[in-house]
Amino acid sequence: MTSEPPAGPSSAGDATPSAGDTAPSAFNFSSVDLPKPGDKLVLDGKEVTVLSPVGRNGRPLRSKLFEVGVMFEPRTDEGQDFLCCVPIPDSATGKTRRCGALLKIPKGSLGNPLRHVKKKHYDAYCCISKESLAKKDRDHAKAPSEKRKRARGENGETSGQGGQSRPGFSGNFGGQKGLDLGRRCVAFCCNQLLPLDAAGKESFTAFVRFIGRTGQVKLLRTVTEATSSLYYLLEREAHERQEALVGRIGDLKSQFYWGLPFLDVSVDHRFVPVPAVRISFRNERGKVEEAVLVGGATSAARLRQQDSDQALEAGVRDIFGEYGLEGAYPRLVQRLSVVQGGERRPLGPPATRSAHISGYLNHDAGRSREEVLRVFEDCCERKGLRDDLCKEMDAYESLARGGGGGDGLPWDAAAFFGRQAEAESSGEGRFPLISRLACSVQLTGEAPQDALQTTREVRIIQAKDFIVEGYDGEFGTVEELTRRTLFIKHNSGLA
Ligand SMILES: [Zn+2]
Repeated sequence: MTSEPPAGPSSAGDATPSAGDTAPSAFNFSSVDLPKPGDKLVLDGKEVTVLSPVGRNGRPLRSKLFEVGVMFEPRTDEGQDFLCCVPIPDSATGKTRRCGALLKIPKGSLGNPLRHVKKKHYDAYCCISKESLAKKDRDHAKAPSEKRKRARGENGETSGQGGQSRPGFSGNFGGQKGLDLGRRCVAFCCNQLLPLDAAGKESFTAFVRFIGRTGQVKLLRTVTEATSSLYYLLEREAHERQEALVGRIGDLKSQFYWGLPFLDVSVDHRFVPVPAVRISFRNERGKVEEAVLVGGATSAARLRQQDSDQALEAGVRDIFGEYGLEGAYPRLVQRLSVVQGGERRPLGPPATRSAHISGYLNHDAGRSREEVLRVFEDCCERKGLRDDLCKEMDAYESLARGGGGGDGLPWDAAAFFGRQAEAESSGEGRFPLISRLACSVQLTGEAPQDALQTTREVRIIQAKDFIVEGYDGEFGTVEELTRRTLFIKHNSGLA
C-alpha cells in the first residue's frame, strides 16, 4: 500500500492496518472507541449528549475527523463541543484510553480539532487529511538522504540507494527493533547533549561491538545511516512524551483529583536558553512526579520579564497552551511561583485555597471546616459529596484531637498523610476525600528546586554544540530542535 499515490480519495483510511507492524505505523480507524449519537457522557463535570455529525444545512458532515471524535451538546463551561476519541496509551496503567481532549467548533469550523489531531495524533491526521503517512515519510526521507549523499560523498561513504527505491520511511529503521533502537539512540543523544549524528560515529559502533552486541551493530548502521531518520525520531519522541504528559495530567485531573487544582508550577530562570516551567504534583499514591516544560519564543519573552508577575503568569499560560493544556490552566494550577537565586517566591495573590485546606488539616483552630467544604464544592467536578466529606471530617477531627491537635499540641498532618498514602491508594484508607485535598495542596512537602542544568550543560547549550555540525535547518529551526532535545532530556519519566 505504501507505493500507492496518496492523492486518491479512498486511499486514506481502509488500507492502513497492513502497515501496523513496521513502524511508524499508519492509523487504524477501527481502533477508535467512538461514542454513538445519543450517548450520554460526563465531560468536565457536565452531562452532555453525543450528536450525529450534521452541518448547519442539515447534511451529514463527511470529514473523517468524525471517525476519531464526536460533537456533543450542550457546550462545556469553557465553550467546547468536540471530544477527541483517538486512542492513546495511558502512561499510568499502560492501557489504551480515549485522548479526551475537548475542543471548540465555532460555527462548525473544524480548524481547532484538525489542528489538535495534527499536533497530537500525527498518524491519524495523515489519514484524515488524505496526506498518507507513506508520502509524509517519503518526503521526510527523500530530500535529506540526497543531501546526505552529497555530504557523505566528501568522506567516501555511500548512503545506499537514497529515498527512491524505498516505499516508506520504515525501511530506514529495519522494522520495529530498529525503530526502538533509533529512539533509544535519540534519547541517549538528548540526555548527553550529543549531536544526533554521534550515534552513527565509528566510535559508537565500536563500543556497541565491544560490549558484545554484535547483532545490534548492523541494525545500528541501518538506523543511523541517514541523520534524517534521527531527526524524524527526535520529533516523534518529543511529541510522544508531550502526549504522555498531557495524558498523565488529564488522567489525574479527572480520575483522582476530580477537578481540584493540584499542580505546583514554578518558573526557573536559571534554565537556558529559555526559562523553564517546572511542574510537580502528588500522584494518586501520594508520590511526587515532576515534568519540565520548555517553551517557545513568545512565552520566553514574557517569562524573561522577571519584574512583572502578570507577564510571568501570562508566559506560563503561553507554555501551557503550547503543550495543549491551555483550557485546563485554572483547574490545574494550585500554586505558582518563581525561582530567583535559588529561592522560591510565590506569584500572584496568596493562595487562600491552599491556606484554608492546609490550615484545617493541621488542625489550626482559625480554619473552619466550612471554608474547606466551600473550597471543595467550588472546585470538585463530582457533586453531592458534601455528606461523605463531613463524615470524614468528623473522624479526622476526633483523630487529630486524640493525637494532640486539640489541647495545644501540634498535630502533624503532613506526617499523618504521608503514612496514610498507601492505605488510601489501595482503597483501605478512611479518608479518600480529605487525602485528595492534602495531595492537591502538596501538604506532605514540595519538590526540591535544585538547578536542572550543570554549568557544563549550560556551556554546551549556549554554544549550540549539541546541534549537528553544518545543520541547515531542514528539520526545523535550531530553536525547535533545542526545545525537543531539552524536553526529552528533562522528562525521562515520560519515555
Ligand atoms: Zn486528541
